[in-house]
Amino acid sequence: MTGDRAIRSILIVGGGTAGWMTAAALAHALPRGCAITLIESEEIGTVGVGEATIPPIRLFNETLGIDEADFLRATKGSFKLGIEFVGWGDLGHRYFHPFGTYGKPFDMLPVHQHWLAARAAGSNVPLDDLSMAWGAAKRGGFAPPQADPRSIGSTFDYAYHFDAGLYAAYLRRYAETRGVARVEGKVSDVARDGESGDVASVMLADGRRVEADLFIDCSGFRGLLIEGALTTGYQDWTHWLPCDRAVAAPCARIAATTPYTRSTAREAGWQWRIPLQHRTGNGYVYCSRFLSDDEAAATLMANLDGEALADPRQLRFVTGRRNLFWNRNVIAIGLSSGFMEPLESTSIHLIQAGIAKLLALFPTRSLDPLVRDEYNRIAIGEFERIRDFIILHYKLTRRQDSELWRYCAAMPIPDSLAERIAHFRRDGRLVTRDLDLFGAASWTAVHIGQFNLPQGRDPLADYLANPDVSRAFVDKLAAAIARAAETMPPHDAHLARLLQ
Ligand code: FAD
Repeated sequence: MTGDRAIRSILIVGGGTAGWMTAAALAHALPRGCAITLIESEEIGTVGVGEATIPPIRLFNETLGIDEADFLRATKGSFKLGIEFVGWGDLGHRYFHPFGTYGKPFDMLPVHQHWLAARAAGSNVPLDDLSMAWGAAKRGGFAPPQADPRSIGSTFDYAYHFDAGLYAAYLRRYAETRGVARVEGKVSDVARDGESGDVASVMLADGRRVEADLFIDCSGFRGLLIEGALTTGYQDWTHWLPCDRAVAAPCARIAATTPYTRSTAREAGWQWRIPLQHRTGNGYVYCSRFLSDDEAAATLMANLDGEALADPRQLRFVTGRRNLFWNRNVIAIGLSSGFMEPLESTSIHLIQAGIAKLLALFPTRSLDPLVRDEYNRIAIGEFERIRDFIILHYKLTRRQDSELWRYCAAMPIPDSLAERIAHFRRDGRLVTRDLDLFGAASWTAVHIGQFNLPQGRDPLADYLANPDVSRAFVDKLAAAIARAAETMPPHDAHLARLLQ
């Protein structure tokens, strides 16, 4: 694009996952006519713990023309079919949040309604067994979904676990090859235009000054531009999502890779387990009101699968979001825009969503407020829908064995979530909201997995099915999934073949 109105220069401040994903996508989308620069500071470093993703990441990579095998080789990645939640609904209880759907509906009634009817008639098939993703995951198998929509093997989806530092390095090579200029240096000051109030330039500690038309703040929790320079303000959601710290430590891989993330609820939070090719990532996300840092670190180190490969590393955060994601000529992407705790692996997705919105609403130099407002409207909706889904996991606990879980079970929740819980509890109905990232299967998994069982049934069920039909359907579906899953190779065998 050329001409007077075009954005001629973009400066990305920060070279973590957010900075390099943004740089790579912009380099791909703006092959000429716009100078893209990224400033990062090796001295400051990155957060570097984001390792689990959700299926839309595949679209990001595909759009950039990234080859899956090449990407998995470079990032030591593995395949992810969902998340196993251990001890969330209650102590000793577990369920799976699958990627994909529960089977395939055979009439107008959602599959979970048949499952509920079958259960009422005495069936003991777990809901998990109606998911192809879990069928494969519990056997440690993996193969890509089948293309034929009639096949049960087409009903699941997948994402990746990967080393976030290696992913950023991979995208750095991609971006630099396509013309992005990298500047090593520490931003020490930000200058604003006296007339417009927009950001005009950033100053580096060594005295260099870098100007641009548009600034992307990928500086992490600091929010150097969006908060440091523009004082945009932050909404704190800690009363709904009380975990505010994490301690992380990698450990040696000791067995076959499980093609899923595990989240184990603990006394004051939960522990993640993310298996990669060369190691397993672990971390304890906890609430500092109910647990000390030392206790959290000790619990984590006592619950590793294998030998620890590094000392535990502490991280602090405040769950919430910026009042605005795009303020003046600054767009915050990544941790600078807000923080959603990593329970459903959504932060890297939110980076991707920020980039997608930026490209869909790419501005001219006049920075039309209409465009900016639309970006903010969508971003706020995305953040709040994900927030509600994450709160759901905490709110639906039956646990009463520690302060955190008692607090969560009793805490007030946003009305937008209370309505959805009430609908499901009434008759198993899944109401949707504009900008939902998580669909019917995800909500069903958590509602049923954490005992929000409907008290009545969908009125449609009165017309369409009787319990025997539902029971036969559930048995048939579970058997078909088990058969299809048996034919899948072990995850590691599939990966090894792909990487060869
Ligand atoms: P950072 O990684 O902090 O990068 C900031 C960049 O800004 C760095 O390059 C730094 O050098 C630069 N910078 C800062 N200040 C200056 C300065 N003054 N001058 C120059 N450069 C500067 N996400 C997921 O999707 N899945 C997960 O499983 C997951 N797990 C997580 C677990 C925890 C405990 C936490 C805290 C986060 C997790 N995330 C996860 C989120 C994920 O880590 C981040 O979204 C992702 O790493 C993006 O971070 P970032 O690039 O915004 O910030």
